[in-house]
Amino acid sequence: MPRKLAAGNWKMNGTGESLAEIDRLAAALPKAEAEVAVLICPPATLLERMSARLTHSAIATGGQDCHFDESGAHTGDVSAAMLLDAGATHVILGHSERRNDHGETNSDVRSKARTAIAAGLHVVICVGETEAERDAANTLDIIQGQLAGSVPDLVTGENLVIAYEPVWAIGTGKVPSMAQIGEVHDFIRASLERRFGAGVGRSVPLLYGGSVKPANAQEIFAVHNVDGALVGGASLKAADFLPIVEALAAA
Ligand code: PEP
Repeated sequence: MPRKLAAGNWKMNGTGESLAEIDRLAAALPKAEAEVAVLICPPATLLERMSARLTHSAIATGGQDCHFDESGAHTGDVSAAMLLDAGATHVILGHSERRNDHGETNSDVRSKARTAIAAGLHVVICVGETEAERDAANTLDIIQGQLAGSVPDLVTGENLVIAYEPVWAIGTGKVPSMAQIGEVHDFIRASLERRFGAGVGRSVPLLYGGSVKPANAQEIFAVHNVDGALVGGASLKAADFLPIVEALAAA
């Protein structure tokens, strides 16, 4: 069984005063939950401060992206080694906002994942269809293409997390039916097992992401092969994120 993971993606939100939310979260989760890992991915500017604040906590931190080169002339970018140096254990790669806003391709995501894993980070690789792709009944083909193109060969059950995030569900309040989530998660699991073998394929945590809230978390976590969530808006406030962590622990 993969370990359950509740991951928060703060996106381009938060300044120093937002760290009070992390203090609230850490106070409410004083020790590691036996089965649930908790990860927060703040903007790069907060990563080191947040990691330092969480030194005595079981909450991990991660970046939201990294460059595929180890270092060099890439103004404005952040390397995998810099994320590690700032206390991160994970990095989100291939989020649909990066794919859309920055034109990231599957091949870019794969290169970034290779570099991040070589540096010692766990990678959270995002896949998901647009509304038009779902309407055209292309969801599973799109997911298969993203998995094949974005996930490098060197992954193990320890360093890979997959987040299924339908683009049309991110930040919109729209959520697929539980049957639709289950269909895609079962498909991802089968695809990973075919490619990496049953042992690795079964141990990769599969997260659902897209408008997860306290009100729908329990229902989503009851879906087969959903091992946790990647949460955007509802991860910004401890009062919203905590009930999601608790729902996952109880699932
Ligand atoms: C996300 O950005 O990964 C996300 C799922 O956002 P939200 O929870 O706000 O839909």
